[in-house]
This record gives sequence, structure tokens and C-alpha cells, in this order.
Amino acid sequence: MIQDIAPYKFNNEYRHIMPEEESIIMFFCNDKLAVREKHKDSSNNKIHIEFPRYKTVKEAVKSPIYLFEIDGVSYFRQYIEEENIPFWEENNLVLQNRFYFRVVAPKVAAFASLTALHLNGWYENNRYCGKCGQKLQNSTEERMLYCPNCDNMVYPKIAPAVIVAVLNKEKVLVTKYKGREYKNYALIAGFNEIGESLEATVEREVFEEAGVKVKNIRYYKSQPWGMADNILAGYICELNGDDTITMDDNELSVAEWMDKKDLNTENIDTSSLTNDMIKYISQMK
Ligand SMILES: [Zn+2]
Repeated sequence: MIQDIAPYKFNNEYRHIMPEEESIIMFFCNDKLAVREKHKDSSNNKIHIEFPRYKTVKEAVKSPIYLFEIDGVSYFRQYIEEENIPFWEENNLVLQNRFYFRVVAPKVAAFASLTALHLNGWYENNRYCGKCGQKLQNSTEERMLYCPNCDNMVYPKIAPAVIVAVLNKEKVLVTKYKGREYKNYALIAGFNEIGESLEATVEREVFEEAGVKVKNIRYYKSQPWGMADNILAGYICELNGDDTITMDDNELSVAEWMDKKDLNTENIDTSSLTNDMIKYISQMK
């Protein structure tokens, strides 16, 4: 999955530090991240990307915020207006949105980009106190913003959601979401609501989207998913009772039982939890 970047090591313990010469600078403008394209890999069509080191773009770095560290190299966020994006070694950096970063290479750069985009969105959306309107300040102790006027503390926002594989003997419930660019088969998915356990989310979402009941709900794996500020929790469960599907056609264009052996997992990109689960289920005995 996208967070599996071994042998690289991701460290997100907050530190109140400034960039060093070799630190990586991620320039953000609104919801976009500035990146340089190195080349396209013809074997998988993935674009290889890179980001500038502090020493090469120093003059454009005015108010860096520490993001995280990968293999001892620190990553920083620098907000910048589009017209001020620096030339980096005479090459243009180009602003790209989140969807671009899902299919870039190497994987460590894709993961760093989506994680940085999630953090950037949080900083962008919390420039002012939601209670009193004062400008928020950065805590020097932890990843937190505070209001000097009313002491409001704002912590990073992560939206929990579930991905669910419903098994019915040799079959699995597959879906396609309406109006999405992503046209491959997916699984049932949905956000956790306030006051609900993740298992209750599983039951509710399966019933809302497909009209069936489930049992034997068990946890599979989780995934940080910066595409939509999520933490995704994967669950596998079994049909309980009637297998008649009543599809929620506001959200889905397809909901159907498919033989596990008919799942097409050849060349499947397992960077997402959904695809990791589809591959796992196709191999289940
Ligand atoms: Zn306030």
C-alpha cells in the first residue's frame, strides 16, 4: 500500500526546527503542490517526480513549517503565490493537485506528497480561530494550532472511514461509484459518523449502499489516505440472510455479487487499501 515505503523510514514525530541545506522544500499554493517531473516510466506510465532541496531554493523559503522526516531528511511546507514559485536549477516547478500524486513514482515520493497535501490542507483551513476569528499560532511543542485570544486548540483533522468486503460463499460484493474518474471495481466504503463504532459503520454503510445485512465483521488492515484526509480501516465480513441487493443509486452505478475467481487482479496497483483487499480476497481459499 502507499504507506509501505520500506526500506525508507517515515517519522512524523513533531519537531520545531528550521530547514537544513539538504532538507526538502514543498511549495504549496492553495491546494496544489509544486513538483518537477523527471521522466515518464514507459513500463507503467508513471511520472517520476522530485522536489527541491533547501540549498537550491533558499531565497524563496520565508516561513517554512516542518512536516515530517523520511530516512533522516526533513520535509518542509512553504506557502507561496504562484508567480513567486522559484526556478529550480533552471527548470520549472509545476503546481499539481492531489489526483496527480496518486500515480507518480517513486512510491516514497507519492506517499510524501499525499501526506504533505493532507497536512497543507489542514494548515490552509485553519488560519483563523473558528471560535473568535483571531489568527491561529503554531505550537512549538506539538502538531497543534492555538488561539492567543481564546486558548482554542486545533489538532490535525483526520476523517475515519471504512472499506468493506462482504463475502457470500464464493462471491464478493463489488461496486462502482457514480461520477468518479476511477472506473475499476471498488468495495463498499463510507465515513464513520459521530457516536458510531467502526463495526457499526460497516453494518450501516453496507445496508445503505447495497441493502444487505452482514455478520462476522473482522478487521483487516488500515491505511492513511491523504487523497481525502482519511484514515481507512478495512473490514471483511459475511452476508447475513437475504442476498438480494438494493443499490443506493445516488452513490453507486454498480453493486453486484462477483465470483472471487473473476476478480481481475492482474497488474492491479495495490497502493490503495481497496485494491490490496481485492487482491487478498481473490486469493482466499
Ligand atoms: Zn480564538
